Amino acid sequence: MKRNVTKSPKIALCRACHGTGSVQKEVETISRFFGRRKTETAVETCPQCGGSGRVTVSANIELDIRPYNPKVQEE
Ligand SMILES: [Zn+2]
Repeated sequence: MKRNVTKSPKIALCRACHGTGSVQKEVETISRFFGRRKTETAVETCPQCGGSGRVTVSANIELDIRPYNPKVQEE
C-alpha cells in the first residue's frame, strides 16, 4: 500500500551557506601572459537561497507500506 505524505513548506536555515547568504568558491584562473595557474577565492551569492540565508523546505514522500510476515521472508 502506497501512501503519499506531503509536508508543507517551512522556513529553514540555508545549509549551503550556513545562513550567510554568500558562498566562497575557488576559481582557477590561467594567466594569459605567463600561462600560470592561480587559485582565487571568489565570493558569490548563494545559489540555493539567493542571498537571503533562508530557504523554504517542503517534502513529498511516498511511503510503501506492506504487511510484515516473517514466514514469507524466510523462504
Ligand atoms: Zn544560502
